[in-house]
Amino acid sequence: MILDFFRLSGKTALVTGANTGLGQAISIALAQAGAHVIGIARRSCEETAQMINNDHGCFHEITVDLNSLDAAEIILKQTKRLTDHVDILVNNAGIILREDAVDVSPDDWNRVIYLNQTFVFLLSQSIAREFFFPQQSGKIINIASMLSFQGGIRVPAYTASKSAIVGLTKALANEWASKNIQVNAIAPGYMETNNTTQLRTDSERSQSILERIPAGRWGKAEDIMGAAVYLSSHASDYVNGFTLAVDGGWLAR
Ligand code: NAP
Repeated sequence: MILDFFRLSGKTALVTGANTGLGQAISIALAQAGAHVIGIARRSCEETAQMINNDHGCFHEITVDLNSLDAAEIILKQTKRLTDHVDILVNNAGIILREDAVDVSPDDWNRVIYLNQTFVFLLSQSIAREFFFPQQSGKIINIASMLSFQGGIRVPAYTASKSAIVGLTKALANEWASKNIQVNAIAPGYMETNNTTQLRTDSERSQSILERIPAGRWGKAEDIMGAAVYLSSHASDYVNGFTLAVDGGWLAR
């Protein structure tokens, strides 16, 4: 039956940035669909764990700052202690720095590019090598943005990194599709999370964004749950290199 195609029972999922926002919602969604979720975060995932445990789901966490040089190695080592297979990787963790382009320092530029772009590649490569290639199966979901398609205002490094994510998603999908590894991305619209606190507290920007969203409201973290389950599941086995917008119609304007 079609709903069985969406079930994730017996699957293990790694989700970066699982402590809050979209990463928390994605973790809960994958756990509700039956996956064992391993949340990766630089601080405690206690709230996520509690929500998943209340649903009788299965959750473990790995605490690591993704900026540390050996982050991918630590994740691999600790993951192997928890499971002998990984089926899904969600590259969700990301940062945004809002500053006039003329004032962005090389350090700020590198910080955003490293976490949002370089580390996504490094972790994907590491998990694919260790788990997906030997298993001949796997799903990678990268988190893109409206700024994968548009320039944005005062966020040049973020725009560059999220535009790169769409390209990287296609590049990895092309190389790995024949190994039954599907690489796709979700491009969230304007969602109510920490990422947009600054925007939402600027009443003028907030109002102009809201007026441009055909759905007439900001997105909520839970709006992304269905897309995450779909791209993690058997239902999307013939979907490769695609970036799915969950944006209340923003890109359609
Ligand atoms: P968020 O609440 O700021 O979440 C970002 C996540 O990344 C948090 O878990 C954060 O951990 C984690 N993170 C940042 N730096 C890290 C590091 N060095 N090591 C480990 N974890 C780190 O915002 P969000 O909206 O849920 O963002 C999730 C993803 O969606 C990001 O890639 C973001 O760019 C993308 N996105 C968001 C929107 C939106 O409107 N909200 C739109 C498009 C795309 P801490 O809590 O410890 O900081």
